[in-house]
Amino acid sequence: MWDDAGREYLDFVAGWAVNTLGHCHPVLVDAICRQAHTLIHTSNQFYTVPQLELAEILVAHSCLDRVFFANSGVEAAEGAVKLARRYGKLHLNGAYEVITVADSFHGRTLAMTAATAQPKFQEPYTPLPAGFINVAWNDPEAIRRATGPLTCAVMLEPVQGESGVRIPAPDYLRRAREWCDERGILLILDEVQTGIARTGTLFAYEQAGVEPDIMAVAKGLGGGVPIGAIMAKESASAFKPGDHGGTFTGSPLVCAAATAVMRYVIDNDIPAHVRHVGAHFLTRLQSIVRDFPIAKEARGAGLLLALDFHEDIADEVTIKCLESGLLVNKVRPNTLRFMPPLIVSDEEVDEGISILRGVLASRM
Ligand SMILES: *Cc1c(COP(=O)(O)O)cnc(C)c1O
Repeated sequence: MWDDAGREYLDFVAGWAVNTLGHCHPVLVDAICRQAHTLIHTSNQFYTVPQLELAEILVAHSCLDRVFFANSGVEAAEGAVKLARRYGKLHLNGAYEVITVADSFHGRTLAMTAATAQPKFQEPYTPLPAGFINVAWNDPEAIRRATGPLTCAVMLEPVQGESGVRIPAPDYLRRAREWCDERGILLILDEVQTGIARTGTLFAYEQAGVEPDIMAVAKGLGGGVPIGAIMAKESASAFKPGDHGGTFTGSPLVCAAATAVMRYVIDNDIPAHVRHVGAHFLTRLQSIVRDFPIAKEARGAGLLLALDFHEDIADEVTIKCLESGLLVNKVRPNTLRFMPPLIVSDEEVDEGISILRGVLASRM
C-alpha cells in the first residue's frame, strides 16, 4: 500500500480482515470492471446471473443449502437472527430468544448491539431490543442453564475476533451443537470474520467438526466490496419470498466481485496457504514473546492472530508501526491483532515481524 505522500506500507489490517486478495488484485479489479460494463444494479426483485453463480459456489463449498445476500456483516448476522425467529414462530411455539456469549461481536445495529455482549457497545444505546440472553463465553454449561422454552437459537463466533482473537476450547462448538440438537434449537455461527479461509479452512466450523444450521459471512467475501450472506440448511430455511429483503442486497456488481474472490480462494487452495503462512506467523510472534519481556502471549487461528503485552502499550506500538511502514490493529489496550491479506507470503510476514521487533526494541 502507498499513502498520498507515496510512503509504502505492509498492510496487516486488510480493512479489518476484508482485503482477502490484498489491494487491487487484478482478478478482483477485472471482475468489477467487467461487471460494471454489463449490469450494476437491478434490486433484488430480479435474479441475476452473478448472484446465482455466487450462491452456487457458496452452497457447493459449505454444508449450507440456501443463501440470502446482505450488504454487511451486521446485516448478515441480524438476518440470521430474523431467520431463527421465523423458525421459532413456525416450529418452536413462537420461541424467539437467542443466546449469545460474553465479549462477542455481532455488529452495530440496535438488535446486534443487544446480541453483542459487551457493556461498552450496549450502554450508550439502551434500551436495547429484547430477546437476547448474554451468557459466559467458552462455557457450554452456561448455554444449557440459559436455555428455556423461549429459546430458538444459540449464536456463536468460532473464534472471537473483535475481543482479541479468543479461541475457545476444542470441544466448545461441538458441545454447543449437541445441546442445540438435544433441545431442537438452532445453532447460528457468526463467521463474518472467520469465514472465507481466514482461519485456514474455507469456514471455521470445519475445524470444529460441527455444522451450523444458519451462518453469517461477510468481511472477506467481497475482497473489499460490501457484501454479506445469510446461509442456512434447508431444514432451517424458514423464510418465504418477501419475508426479508433489501434494495441493494446481492447486486450483480458485488456478487461478481465476490464470485471472483471465491473462485480464486478455491482454485488456488488459499486455505492451505493460510495454514502454512499462519503457522509461520505464529512461530515468529512466539519468538517475540521469548525475546521481549513486555510481550506476554501469542495466539492465532490461520491468519487471524494476536499478541498480548503485559502493559497497555498497543496504542503506542500501533502508531510506531505505522510510522515504520506496518499497519496493525490495536484490538485491546494491551493486544495487537494481525489479519493480513490471505495471499501474504512468508517473506512479507518476516518483514512485518522485523518492523515490529524494531518498534519493541526502540522502547527499551
Ligand atoms: C465485523 C463483524 C461483524 C459486523 O460486520 P460489519 O460489516 O462491520 O457490519 C459481525 N460479526 C463479526 C463476527 C464481525 O467480526
